[in-house]
Amino acid sequence: MSAAPGTLTAEAIAALEARHEAPLYHKRDLAVVRGEGARVWDAAGRCYIDCIGGHGVAVVGHCHPKVVAAIREQAGRLLTCPGALGNDARAAYLARLAQVTPPGLDRFFLCNSGTEAVEAAIKFARASTGRPGVVAARRGFHGRTLGALSATWKEQYKKPFQPLVSGFTHVPFNDLPALAEAVTADTAAVLLEPVQGEGGVYPATPAYLQGAAQLARARGALLILDEVQTGFGRTGHLFAAEHYGVVPDLLCLAKGIAGGLPMGAVALGPRVAGLSPGMHASTFGGNPLACAAAGAALDVLLDEGLPERAARLGAAFQDRLRELALPAVREVRGLGLMIGIELRFRAAPYLAALQQAGVLALAAGPQVIRLLPPLVITEEELAQVAAALGRVLAGKEVAADAAGA
Ligand SMILES: *Cc1c(COP(=O)(O)O)cnc(C)c1O
Repeated sequence: MSAAPGTLTAEAIAALEARHEAPLYHKRDLAVVRGEGARVWDAAGRCYIDCIGGHGVAVVGHCHPKVVAAIREQAGRLLTCPGALGNDARAAYLARLAQVTPPGLDRFFLCNSGTEAVEAAIKFARASTGRPGVVAARRGFHGRTLGALSATWKEQYKKPFQPLVSGFTHVPFNDLPALAEAVTADTAAVLLEPVQGEGGVYPATPAYLQGAAQLARARGALLILDEVQTGFGRTGHLFAAEHYGVVPDLLCLAKGIAGGLPMGAVALGPRVAGLSPGMHASTFGGNPLACAAAGAALDVLLDEGLPERAARLGAAFQDRLRELALPAVREVRGLGLMIGIELRFRAAPYLAALQQAGVLALAAGPQVIRLLPPLVITEEELAQVAAALGRVLAGKEVAADAAGA
């Protein structure tokens, strides 16, 4: 028996997923069935302000009409086209993307997710330099496939899957002397997030990121920036690297790239060499549907001035939170509309309390609330988020049961 989507209750959804989905997610008590802009609706019709945003995917908002129209149009023409064959939607998107990526990064490998983008960048750095080593940062997150996972810091994510890929070392973030010590003649790449997302929302200092770029160049290694989460306007520039005046050799993109459709990309700078046909590929990479959606999403980002909007609204929102001087809050940090609120307590019960209050937020480590709202979120919606945070975080520690967790 199969039930049509749209007819299932929250209970039915939870039961079917609990029965048939591999048990890999910490499930929340919520099933979302529709979205528009910065809002989503649950199966019972209740509306939430969505500061999870598909883990930062929904930069242009849920179901942006221009993205939906581009998908509908392309879906009626051609859905799949292998990399060995040319395609109009792909060619047009590549040219469009090359206009907005940092100077010199005008060639791309298209794939389907963030981890694939990181995986490809690691392979390209090894092929380009003939060296094995990758230096990444503590607290860094780069994805779940074995190569990207080897670059990821969190032991809990890695432990069940040993042995991982060899050649990876981790250094403290924002510590240039430690990086200088770790980068050797065996280093293919330094791999960093400009703002660590999953690890707790920690922006790199300008001196660190600029120093890392210089160091990599001086020692014959490549700089890979993982902008899977920070890319496409999230931090207040189209790419976070622009805040720092840093141009990486390889730039990893995904999440917000295609307005909600699965897609990833690696942008290649002039120092990347040694690639040849057959070395790497992806069946779905550069498919016409994703490319059409990505082109429309990029137009929306630029036409609606969303990076500038993220800068303006994000700064004002951070100021507002600091003004509230909430007793449960240790620090507010972030860049643009990538915001971390470090608590004195565990974040989970507060996330549940926020959900009760109609605001969806996510964690970044045990004590940090992370907000990744769509960049189209209205000022009024953000004021509602601030008010909900003010109420929920005003008290001392929220008991898990009181918060409905
Ligand atoms: C989400 C994320 C990834 C992994 O992306 P997936 O699409 O889940 O594979 C990699 N790097 C960073 C910085 C991310 O935020």
